[in-house]
Amino acid sequence: MDKFGFTISKGRQIDYDLNDRFIAEYIFEHEPSFRLCIECGGCSSTCSTGQFTLFSLRELHILIKRGENDKARQNIRKCMLCGKCMLVCPRGVNTRNVVLLARQAFQKENEHAV
Ligand code: SF4
Ligand code: SF4
Repeated sequence: MDKFGFTISKGRQIDYDLNDRFIAEYIFEHEPSFRLCIECGGCSSTCSTGQFTLFSLRELHILIKRGENDKARQNIRKCMLCGKCMLVCPRGVNTRNVVLLARQAFQKENEHAV
Protein backbone atom coordinates (compact mmCIF):
# COMPACT_ATOMS: atom_id res chain seq x y z
CA MET A 1 0.00 0.00 0.00
CA ASP A 2 1.27 3.53 -0.80
CA LYS A 3 2.47 5.65 2.07
CA PHE A 4 0.68 8.96 2.43
CA GLY A 5 3.37 10.72 4.46
CA PHE A 6 1.45 10.82 7.70
CA THR A 7 0.38 8.39 10.38
CA ILE A 8 -2.57 8.12 12.67
CA SER A 9 -1.56 8.79 16.25
CA LYS A 10 -2.31 6.12 18.81
CA GLY A 11 -5.20 7.15 21.05
CA ARG A 12 -4.34 8.47 24.52
CA GLN A 13 -7.69 7.66 26.01
CA ILE A 14 -7.28 6.41 29.59
CA ASP A 15 -9.40 3.37 30.36
CA TYR A 16 -9.41 3.07 34.14
CA ASP A 17 -11.11 -0.33 33.92
CA LEU A 18 -8.19 -1.76 31.96
CA ASN A 19 -5.41 -0.16 34.00
CA ASP A 20 -4.00 -1.72 37.15
CA ARG A 21 -5.07 0.42 40.12
CA PHE A 22 -3.58 -1.81 42.81
CA ILE A 23 -0.70 0.55 43.62
CA ALA A 24 -2.98 3.61 43.85
CA GLU A 25 -5.54 1.82 46.02
CA TYR A 26 -2.81 0.54 48.34
CA ILE A 27 -1.50 4.07 48.87
CA PHE A 28 -5.00 5.56 49.29
CA GLU A 29 -5.72 3.01 52.00
CA HIS A 30 -2.54 3.59 54.00
CA GLU A 31 -1.91 7.30 53.30
CA PRO A 32 -5.25 9.10 52.69
CA SER A 33 -3.47 12.44 52.13
CA PHE A 34 -2.51 11.09 48.69
CA ARG A 35 -6.08 11.93 47.62
CA LEU A 36 -5.46 15.62 48.36
CA CYS A 37 -2.77 16.02 45.68
CA ILE A 38 -3.81 18.53 43.01
CA GLU A 39 -0.75 17.83 40.81
CA CYS A 40 0.46 21.41 41.17
CA GLY A 41 4.11 20.39 40.73
CA GLY A 42 5.49 22.21 43.79
CA CYS A 43 7.13 19.00 44.96
CA SER A 44 8.83 18.43 41.60
CA SER A 45 10.21 21.94 41.46
CA THR A 46 11.97 21.55 44.80
CA CYS A 47 12.93 17.88 44.44
CA SER A 48 16.59 17.07 45.14
CA THR A 49 16.61 14.23 42.60
CA GLY A 50 14.80 16.36 40.04
CA GLN A 51 17.75 18.79 40.03
CA PHE A 52 19.95 16.10 38.48
CA THR A 53 17.59 13.71 36.67
CA LEU A 54 14.26 13.76 34.86
CA PHE A 55 12.52 12.35 37.95
CA SER A 56 9.24 14.12 38.77
CA LEU A 57 7.13 13.29 41.82
CA ARG A 58 4.16 15.05 40.25
CA GLU A 59 4.40 12.80 37.20
CA LEU A 60 4.79 9.77 39.46
CA HIS A 61 1.56 10.65 41.29
CA ILE A 62 -0.32 11.09 38.02
CA LEU A 63 0.93 7.80 36.56
CA ILE A 64 0.06 5.84 39.71
CA LYS A 65 -3.43 7.36 39.93
CA ARG A 66 -4.04 6.47 36.28
CA GLY A 67 -2.79 2.95 36.87
CA GLU A 68 0.02 3.42 34.33
CA ASN A 69 2.53 1.74 36.58
CA ASP A 70 5.37 0.70 34.28
CA LYS A 71 7.06 4.10 34.10
CA ALA A 72 6.38 4.72 37.79
CA ARG A 73 8.05 1.40 38.64
CA GLN A 74 11.16 2.37 36.65
CA ASN A 75 11.54 5.69 38.47
CA ILE A 76 10.41 5.02 42.03
CA ARG A 77 13.92 4.16 43.28
CA LYS A 78 15.30 7.53 42.17
CA CYS A 79 13.71 9.30 45.15
CA MET A 80 16.25 9.81 47.95
CA LEU A 81 13.54 10.22 50.62
CA CYS A 82 15.02 13.54 51.70
CA GLY A 83 11.55 14.94 52.46
CA LYS A 84 12.04 18.40 50.91
CA CYS A 85 8.87 17.95 48.84
CA MET A 86 6.80 17.61 52.03
CA LEU A 87 7.89 21.06 53.17
CA VAL A 88 6.47 22.80 50.10
CA CYS A 89 3.32 20.79 49.38
CA PRO A 90 0.35 23.20 49.68
CA ARG A 91 -2.02 20.31 50.34
CA GLY A 92 -0.10 18.69 53.15
CA VAL A 93 0.44 15.43 51.28
CA ASN A 94 2.82 13.12 53.12
CA THR A 95 4.83 12.68 49.92
CA ARG A 96 7.68 10.79 51.50
CA ASN A 97 5.27 8.17 52.83
CA VAL A 98 3.58 8.00 49.44
CA VAL A 99 6.91 7.02 47.88
CA LEU A 100 7.60 4.47 50.62
CA LEU A 101 4.13 2.93 50.22
CA ALA A 102 4.47 2.85 46.44
CA ARG A 103 7.71 0.90 46.85
CA GLN A 104 5.97 -1.49 49.24
CA ALA A 105 3.09 -1.97 46.83
CA PHE A 106 5.41 -2.67 43.89
CA GLN A 107 7.24 -5.18 46.09
CA LYS A 108 3.96 -6.92 46.98
CA GLU A 109 2.98 -6.98 43.31
CA ASN A 110 6.30 -8.65 42.46
CA GLU A 111 5.84 -11.26 45.19
CA HIS A 112 2.35 -12.13 43.91
CA ALA A 113 3.65 -12.39 40.34
CA VAL A 114 6.21 -15.07 41.33
S1 SF4 B 1 3.27 19.67 45.88
FE1 SF4 B 1 1.68 18.39 46.87
S2 SF4 B 1 -0.23 18.89 45.77
FE2 SF4 B 1 1.48 19.64 44.51
S3 SF4 B 1 1.91 17.90 43.07
FE3 SF4 B 1 3.26 17.66 44.84
S4 SF4 B 1 2.16 16.27 46.25
FE4 SF4 B 1 0.66 17.10 44.79
S1 SF4 C 1 11.73 12.95 49.14
FE1 SF4 C 1 12.11 12.19 47.03
S2 SF4 C 1 10.57 13.23 45.76
FE2 SF4 C 1 10.73 14.38 47.72
S3 SF4 C 1 12.24 16.02 47.34
FE3 SF4 C 1 13.34 14.26 48.21
S4 SF4 C 1 14.09 13.10 46.42
FE4 SF4 C 1 12.45 14.46 45.69
